Amino acid sequence: MNRIINLLRNSHHILVVAHNNPDGDAIGSLIALGLSLDVLNKKTTLYNESPIPAVYRFLPSANRIVQHINNTHFDVAVILDCSDLKRIGDAASMVSKIPVIVNIDHHVTNTRFGHFQFIDTSACATAEIIYRFIKKMGVPINKDIATSIYTGILTDTGSFRFSNTNRLAFEICQEMVEVGVDPYDIAKQVYGTYSLGRIKLLNLALDSIEITNNGKLSIMTLTQDMFDKTHTRHEDVEGFINYARNIEDVKITALIKESCNSKGDKGGVNTFHISLRSNGTVDVASIASTLGGGGHPNAAGFSTESTLSDIKSILFEIAEKV
Ligand code: 5GP
Ligand code: MN
Repeated sequence: MNRIINLLRNSHHILVVAHNNPDGDAIGSLIALGLSLDVLNKKTTLYNESPIPAVYRFLPSANRIVQHINNTHFDVAVILDCSDLKRIGDAASMVSKIPVIVNIDHHVTNTRFGHFQFIDTSACATAEIIYRFIKKMGVPINKDIATSIYTGILTDTGSFRFSNTNRLAFEICQEMVEVGVDPYDIAKQVYGTYSLGRIKLLNLALDSIEITNNGKLSIMTLTQDMFDKTHTRHEDVEGFINYARNIEDVKITALIKESCNSKGDKGGVNTFHISLRSNGTVDVASIASTLGGGGHPNAAGFSTESTLSDIKSILFEIAEKV
């Protein structure tokens, strides 16, 4: 940690990046680190390939996160919440030319890319690690930084329900509340804002649920047609997987999302993202790794160019081994 902090203190222009299709931890960590580097008078660019999901746009300085990088004269890139560099998207090739790459993450599948790594798989969220960095850097935590850290921990622990919820999750969030964070305010922003389209999409998603013959694997499918019909986007799906996950006796759940930019008649072949969840008895991080993705033992994912029926066949095969 000290080596990374010294490196940041001695840098001029730092690029801070989190994974595409960001969640609350990716964005919260990105903003919290960016605001802390401001305090150290560092020049920073905060980057994410994807638009910021509507529910996270309330975060302070969310509008500072850019979707395009013009300046290529960075001396350091800090990559957050990514188990491998390709998780940041198309910018990976440009970023890999930056002289120093720092990899800060909490995924068990982290490939240890970059020149410096700080990987702690016991951390409940990357935001927890960023909190520890901020403390070590001696940066005072103001309400904006606190809001970002709180949101990262709240969302990555599924509101303190998932197995990664640890003592520090509560301790840090308590401190963030003491700094001025209002839990009700953040809960309303993150969980309380539903568009009508999102409810209609949920209806289609619930109707799509299938369960394998042995009852151990459930599948929820969201096609591009469903997004089009309900005028929704991938970000609107956040949380849907839990409905399929909480069905009794189900050990693994898969949520299949068809990618929005891959329409066209290619014999049903399209880009799909598959989210996997486990009830704690199966390691889905290793399943996702063998399919080109990664994640945590109970929450992982991968992307593939394939057909819906081929993806389902793979999932049915997995179910037979459970
Ligand atoms: P989600 O299913 O919510 O997209 O992701 C669940 C977890 O798996 C997150 O920690 C996320 O970073 C990881 N994950 C999801 N998709 C991928 C992927 O394509 N590659 C890798 N390496 N990790 C992924
Ligand atoms: Mn995370």
